[in-house]
Amino acid sequence: MGDMLSAARERMHRAAKALDLQDELIERLCYPRETLAASIPLRRDDGTLMQLKAWRCRYDSTLGPTKGGIRFHHTVSEDEVSTLAFLMTMKCALMDLPFGGGKGGVKVDATQLSTMERERLARRYVRAFARILSPDRDIPAPDVATGEREMAWMVSEYSDLVGRIEPHAFTGKPVSLGGIVGRTPATGRGGMIALEAMREKLGLGGNQSLTIALQGYGNAGSWFAKAAREAGHKIVAVSDSSGLVRAKGGLPIDRLSQVKEEKGEVSALTGEGISSLKDGAKIVEQECDVLVLAALGGVIGGPEDVEKLGCKAIVEIANRPILPAADDALRQAGIEVVPDILANGGGVVVSHAEWVQGRQGRPWKEHEVETYLEDHISDAADRVRRLMDSHGLDMRTAAHGCALQRLCAGISASGLAKDYADG
Ligand code: NAD
Repeated sequence: MGDMLSAARERMHRAAKALDLQDELIERLCYPRETLAASIPLRRDDGTLMQLKAWRCRYDSTLGPTKGGIRFHHTVSEDEVSTLAFLMTMKCALMDLPFGGGKGGVKVDATQLSTMERERLARRYVRAFARILSPDRDIPAPDVATGEREMAWMVSEYSDLVGRIEPHAFTGKPVSLGGIVGRTPATGRGGMIALEAMREKLGLGGNQSLTIALQGYGNAGSWFAKAAREAGHKIVAVSDSSGLVRAKGGLPIDRLSQVKEEKGEVSALTGEGISSLKDGAKIVEQECDVLVLAALGGVIGGPEDVEKLGCKAIVEIANRPILPAADDALRQAGIEVVPDILANGGGVVVSHAEWVQGRQGRPWKEHEVETYLEDHISDAADRVRRLMDSHGLDMRTAAHGCALQRLCAGISASGLAKDYADG
């Protein structure tokens, strides 16, 4: 078992202990249900052949078909895929969706691939894993370096293979091909809903405007920034891979989005009161109420990183931006964290709406999607708050606890050893 998955499971064990959940039930969630590994041949445009490693993990399907993205990245490994599938299992359970957790990936530097090479890879991936994919078994979505276009290719390949048009075999598709309106902003907006719902627990109660520092200005980060601005908060610093920009009075979000789109980097933003830094990693030191991590995994790796923090609370929009080795130091420093499985759950909630839309054969209206998102995140936040209060837990442990309560109810409903034991 890989180190990454073992570390992620520690958080589950902590919650299971606090809630006194049966070992037999938790044991079921310690290992992936099935992981397929494949070697995918990719013909490059110049005629040469690359052999790529790829995985698809269905971690747990107690609550329904497994759900999770496919990433194309040079750091992908089986351990990472299993860990992210484990997190999806927790997230879907916490969000009260009828989905289990899955994840997939290809170890490849996607920036080196042409559009035609990406299309061949997307189609090859589907052929390699077709035996476990299906709208009733395992439903992929986009993840790092994959998006609507890859999902469109994948649906087309899958439909050709099974001989039926099955758009709901994948989510995150273009709206013109059965995608749902409101999927793109869902993760960022969901993060904002979670932050508002948890303000008091973060020690930031009241209605006053918050100061926010944001790492990552891609899809999730930029939509979070727009939602935060609409709610009256100030984004005082933003970083991306190019560096960092900041303004004491708050950054102009519309202009920042325009600069990011035109020039590809937030540090190209200039103006009165705006300063920039080449070293984007300094964002974690920014004095602010809330630090929002919306870029990478492993940004806060241990106590030495916690010492540098300039914030009062953290929202994890990326997956695993804080590693378990930093948890104790954060507790000691009194910095509460809205954990990834709650803060970025908006993406999978709206993916579920897209899957339902595909099964119903009727497009959802934007306001229906917005209400669905709001209800799921708010209800999950409510359950987490109640468990924090009843058991004296930190937010991450309570979020895992809520997910485990639902998973354990499902596992035990399917039968336990004691049901079969003599006497
Ligand atoms: P994205 O590729 O659109 O954006 C990533 C952003 O991070 C970019 O602005 C990039 O410049 C920035 N970045 C990269 N390296 C950086 C660094 N060293 N310092 C600061 N910024 C850096 O990705 P996204 O879809 O916005 O996803 C961001 C994170 O959120 C990922 O961890 C992803 O797994 C997670 N997430 C996204 C969704 C979703 O629906 N988009 C859902 C759940 C989780």
